[in-house]
Amino acid sequence: MRLIDSHCHLNADRFDGDHDRVVGAAHLAGVERILVPGWNVASSERALACADRFGWLDAAVGIHPHDAAKVDAAGWARIVAWAPDPRVVAIGETGLDYDRVFSPIEDQLINLRLNLVLALETGKPAILHCRSAVGRRDAQDALLGELRAAGVGGPGWVAAFGQRPPAVIHSFSGPLDYAREVIDLGLAISFSGLVFRAGEEASAGVAALVPEDRLLVETDSPFLAPPGAPRSRNEPEWVRVTGEWLGDHRGTTPEALGPTLIAAYDRTFPTPRRTM
Ligand SMILES: [Zn+2]
Repeated sequence: MRLIDSHCHLNADRFDGDHDRVVGAAHLAGVERILVPGWNVASSERALACADRFGWLDAAVGIHPHDAAKVDAAGWARIVAWAPDPRVVAIGETGLDYDRVFSPIEDQLINLRLNLVLALETGKPAILHCRSAVGRRDAQDALLGELRAAGVGGPGWVAAFGQRPPAVIHSFSGPLDYAREVIDLGLAISFSGLVFRAGEEASAGVAALVPEDRLLVETDSPFLAPPGAPRSRNEPEWVRVTGEWLGDHRGTTPEALGPTLIAAYDRTFPTPRRTM
């Protein structure tokens, strides 16, 4: 199956010294695109280094909600300075996490707004992490409110992005009506191994709902191992498990789905730099 991994933290230290093998295995498994997102300043810099080392990998720079309270003005200035770089195809990951709340919610909201403004200014989509505690949806509802307040779907964003998605909901989690609303705002949705976890049953319905030109799949390596992958460290080659799940829930074959995923990736994250 031809595959993408739209969210893979090869910049995590758990991959130190092992990049050639992991990226090689992904390529052998059919993975043709990998996006490496940062979560703070240092990991954003390491994402750029991954894109240097492997010319077919893409990077994103930004601040994760977990790190929202830890970044200072000088750190944010480095993210802003990297954003126009041709290796950078997206801003993030950013978003809201009301489950673990490693940064206070007020800091998460301020950070999310900064990252959204940077996405709008650069015309590079925001990668959005959004998690509530199991059985809750307060983070999803807050995210929808923030997207609307930022004008996503309105004229400024349409001028910057045209028909391209202005943001990606990464590692989708949430109810069906929330999915419908983000799709209506023009966002892309990316599915990870989270879909196999208890409490995430709504994802099967959402998988059938996403327009094919905004449908993405990811591992979120080294996290969220799908069934069959090593729990200790997920790797990009395991995106095939979630890719097959996606095909099942859309009533299509992996062979038919693969080229669609690649086209959706290239439409969401266009770059003149990519050679494969
Ligand atoms: Zn991530």
